[in-house]
Amino acid sequence: MKIEIIPCLKDNYSYLIFEQETNTVSIVDPSEFNACDKIISKYERLDFILNTHHHFDHVDGNIRLKEKYNSKVLGFSGDKNRIPGIDILLKENQKKRIGNLEFNVIFVPGHTKGHIAFYFKKEKIVFTGDTLFSLGCGKVFEGTHKDMFNSLNKLKNLPPETKVYCGHEYTKNNLDFCLMHQSNNSALKEKSLQIFSKLKDKFPTIPTSIGEELKTNIFLKCDDKNLKEALNLKDSPDHEIFSKLRDLKDAF
Ligand code: ZN
Ligand code: FE
Repeated sequence: MKIEIIPCLKDNYSYLIFEQETNTVSIVDPSEFNACDKIISKYERLDFILNTHHHFDHVDGNIRLKEKYNSKVLGFSGDKNRIPGIDILLKENQKKRIGNLEFNVIFVPGHTKGHIAFYFKKEKIVFTGDTLFSLGCGKVFEGTHKDMFNSLNKLKNLPPETKVYCGHEYTKNNLDFCLMHQSNNSALKEKSLQIFSKLKDKFPTIPTSIGEELKTNIFLKCDDKNLKEALNLKDSPDHEIFSKLRDLKDAF
């Protein structure tokens, strides 16, 4: 499995997945036709388009790519009326193959009601769309804060070595927020050096990993006693810590 990162629009990432044995080419969240087609045209084919959710900055390339390459569009069944050109309706926990690769559909509502993540267990890779970002998480638009909290918990439980490919390059802003609330976190300080060196050379800060995020991403630390105390919410349940952090980040 080879992954090509395709920067799109202002700060989106689309991902091309090439599976060599059966020469299968897929793309996750084609934000725009031109930037994606430039990379796809090297392979002269596009078999599958995978959408994490229906927002335009994740599906805008669907129709033109499908027309040009006769691809199949895969998305969440509940969003069949919102994902342009959808052919294959996916359900929670469903397994699906693209060539010789198999992924599992993880249902992660919160950012939207029908958001899913694509988990390639054998390859130890997850595409998280706008649910889990490097050092952050997506805004809660359609679901509840509790939905998003539960969705992040599903992703937290993946093996720590799982590589995370997310929908946006929001890492620098997320880092500033995390540093403000956990200035003593040595793993975060270490990660910030890597982030700065990548950004300086205009490289993506992606992928991250579940293990790194567990150590550094404040939205995955809602059970942390020191954090609860710092927020004056010592006796509150974890999901309330999440709500508080999400509100603070929205105003950040
Ligand atoms: Zn979105
Ligand atoms: Fe987005």
